[in-house]
Amino acid sequence: MIVHKFGGTSVGDATRFARVADIVARCHKRHEAAQPEETVVVVSAMSGVTDQLIAGARAAADGQDAVYCGIKASLLNRHLQVVESVLADSRERPEALRWVEDRLYDLERLCGSIAVLGELTARGRDAVASFGEQLSAYMLAAVLRDRGVPAQRVSATEVIVTDDAFGRALPLSEPTGRRLKERVRPLLESSIIPVITGYIGATEQGVTTTLGRGGSDYSAALVGAGLCADQVWIWSDVNGILTADPSIVPEARTISELSYLEAAELAYFGADVLHPKTIRPLVDKAIPLRLLNTFNPNDPGTLIVSRPNPDRERWPAIISSRGLSMIAVGTRDDAWTPRASARALELLSDAGVEVFMFSQSFSEHSLNLVVDEQNQCHSLTRLQREFSDEKTYSIGCKERVAIVSTVGVPDWNGGHIVSHVFAALGKCGTRVIAVAQAATEYSVSICIPEDQLESTVRFLHRELGLER
Ligand code: ASP
Ligand code: MG
Repeated sequence: MIVHKFGGTSVGDATRFARVADIVARCHKRHEAAQPEETVVVVSAMSGVTDQLIAGARAAADGQDAVYCGIKASLLNRHLQVVESVLADSRERPEALRWVEDRLYDLERLCGSIAVLGELTARGRDAVASFGEQLSAYMLAAVLRDRGVPAQRVSATEVIVTDDAFGRALPLSEPTGRRLKERVRPLLESSIIPVITGYIGATEQGVTTTLGRGGSDYSAALVGAGLCADQVWIWSDVNGILTADPSIVPEARTISELSYLEAAELAYFGADVLHPKTIRPLVDKAIPLRLLNTFNPNDPGTLIVSRPNPDRERWPAIISSRGLSMIAVGTRDDAWTPRASARALELLSDAGVEVFMFSQSFSEHSLNLVVDEQNQCHSLTRLQREFSDEKTYSIGCKERVAIVSTVGVPDWNGGHIVSHVFAALGKCGTRVIAVAQAATEYSVSICIPEDQLESTVRFLHRELGLER
């Protein structure tokens, strides 16, 4: 059995839905020929949809009715367009159109209730955020059926059982395994491909939860582990894990094989192609994980296994993220204590904001937090509200920053990646705004101005001798 997971860019528009359906149909058939191999699909929301949903929920809580109605209209339009285009002459079309309209009507009503309450709870945010995957899973199953491949949408709220930590729910493996067997096994036995919503789950009582942003990879691993799959394949828009982002460094190489531990480390530093929690469920059953490219399906990508080939080539990787803002919380005098950091971090975590990097400076009496620019406004408002009565605090923001992390491998080039990175940075004259380094000497993250991102990554890649 292979669990295939498709990310948001892989189902970004009508053509891409068709491409994904072709890949699934091809893999399914190929396996069927050899032996009746089973196929399970896990799918993310269309790219950008989850961001829009969360923005809509926040706007509703702030009483901005026009904003959330506008978001609903644009989501309706985008999903209807996919149905109209990819299922144009299909028997599936009328039902799919109705289904999409009904779900967006539900979304509008939910946002309406949030607006009446004037408050967005973590539970409400998860309920809204779950719509994207519900829509894409329904549409992908319909497209597969239209191509003569039996498929059925399965809502992960029926199979992934979690605790009630909304926004970062923890899956409970025993009930999840049981539900997967009850709900998904019978489909596989009838040769029907289950198309399961990524990212979401539900409590034992059936309340919708989410596993954290980018969590569909994790969903695929949970499904793979629960069903004892032979492999889990994660399809995105790059050829697996590379030594740098190929859109910045075209000469970047694919890292062909990694151990679970090495891959988890890279994912932790923000390698976009893999959610950091994905590895954990696979380790016990030693289920291999493959990272593949929907737009280049014949490339072997990256294979992640418990014991990689000892003769494989080993390379450090440069991981970069843009579209970030740095928020500084500081005191004007030396009243700074680590408690202020703890308060700020806890507040953002409760507000569902992920902090990608933070550094604390005792001499400057400040804490620097890097967040996604989409969370900038929301984070600033929450922090200003929290610290407003205390005159001593000041809150500032630097827009358009980027993070570059370099993650080494223990026996590469003498090991100490950190000194190589700083030597290179000195030569290329990058302005380093903040640094974060773990206790190991294998990795270091720097925060820099966004307009220096590309030149810095290219320079580092060359200086570390990583190009092909
Ligand atoms: N749609 C969710 C997100 O954007 C989950 C995912 O794409 O993995 O975070
Ligand atoms: Mg992802």
